Amino acid sequence: MADTRYLDWPFFEPRHRALARELDAWAAQHLAGDHGADVDAACRALVRQLGAAGWLRHAVAGRALGGISDAIDTRAVCLLRETLARHSGLADFAFAMQGLGSGAISLAGTEAQKARWLPAVAAGEAIAAFALSEPDAGSDVAALSCAARAEGDAYVLDGEKTWISNGGIADFYVVFARSGEAPGARGISAFIVEAGTPGFHIAERIEVMAPHPLARLKFENCRVPASQRLGAAGEGFKLAMRTLDVFRTSVAAAALGFARRALDEALTRATTRPLFGGVLADLQLTQSKLAQMALTIESAALLTYRAAWQRDQGRNVTREAAMAKLAATEGAQQVIDAAVQLWGGLGVVSGVAVERLYREIRALRIYEGASEVQQLIIARELLREVRAVQAP
Ligand SMILES: Cc1cc2nc3c(=O)[nH]c(=O)nc-3n(C[C@H](O)[C@H](O)[C@H](O)COP(=O)(O)OP(=O)(O)OC[C@H]3O[C@@H](n4cnc5c(N)ncnc54)[C@H](O)[C@@H]3O)c2cc1C
Repeated sequence: MADTRYLDWPFFEPRHRALARELDAWAAQHLAGDHGADVDAACRALVRQLGAAGWLRHAVAGRALGGISDAIDTRAVCLLRETLARHSGLADFAFAMQGLGSGAISLAGTEAQKARWLPAVAAGEAIAAFALSEPDAGSDVAALSCAARAEGDAYVLDGEKTWISNGGIADFYVVFARSGEAPGARGISAFIVEAGTPGFHIAERIEVMAPHPLARLKFENCRVPASQRLGAAGEGFKLAMRTLDVFRTSVAAAALGFARRALDEALTRATTRPLFGGVLADLQLTQSKLAQMALTIESAALLTYRAAWQRDQGRNVTREAAMAKLAATEGAQQVIDAAVQLWGGLGVVSGVAVERLYREIRALRIYEGASEVQQLIIARELLREVRAVQAP
């Protein structure tokens, strides 16, 4: 196991420390090999495996519904993502999407909706997806245009969603569409759309630098029973933001996992690579790099677990989660780049761990709020506090 001193931090309770250690041992045994070229099959298998081992119980809320506890434990989710990401980016992806894809059901589902999906998600028997982004609505997501027209006891969906993780392999999609109760963000509702619903199909498979199932979805005259609307009509945007709020800190944790793995790989290489009569690690410029990598990781970890702890206390974490995501994802990119540099030519060879990490980290600086969006959130919170004090 990598450096685990952070588990002694006061943010954690004994159950968190035990969880991280158990998962690390499990992952070392079960996630060591290559996942193979068929990324869809690999993801399906990983979801089943993570479900059978009980790890997905942390991704849903409600003991009676297969969850480990009645509310999602952010620190546990973060430790799970960090540990999985350290071992396998695809396993982290499979875990994270079960949580993000079912999060709106945990938060706002009716008893029937929860009973239908959450136990299956927790067991790894149903694959979840979260369909918010559109070709013209990414960072400015309130501009989404996919329409949901009320018609009798159903809604009819027309439009597109893109960049949808698990697109093509999911059993259900939580889809956010414009139902028109009010302009802008107040006229959006959320729906559970099952795979195979007539009028819903995968329009395009999207290939990305770190392969995982990703697709553009198309809805054409797609009838969804009103009983599959999630939460109140017109409350979908708020529900999407609440769902992202639960999981934003966990993106930081995944970045930490990638960064820790990169540092481990860098240390191994630097201490064994013969160079100029010694090894790479003897050179002071190498030591400077290693020190900076460790510092970046530790500071991002402090921000991440502070945000997770604060959320578990029931406090608002808008500023803290934004800081954690920004610092951890940007920092991980730098750490991984330094690790590639230390590996020299070998660092850019396809399939080498640091090369894989270099591709895997990149999207984390873009999704669930790009770095610029996190900067704006932090500044907005700062200015709000100052203006509240200045107000006459
Ligand atoms: C691998 C991957 C998986 C994804 N999975 C999902 C998923 O499962 N479900 C889903 O709904 N979406 C998903 N997304 C979509 C993701 O959330 C969007 O890509 C993201 O919100 C950015 O939107 P965009 O790509 O349209 O970029 P744009 O909105 O066009 O933004 C482009 C760039 O502009 C900059 N920018 C943005 N806002 C500002 C600002 N205010 N000031 C200055 N600069 C700014 C940022 O650098 C940003 O990267 C995924 C994306 C990727 C890459």
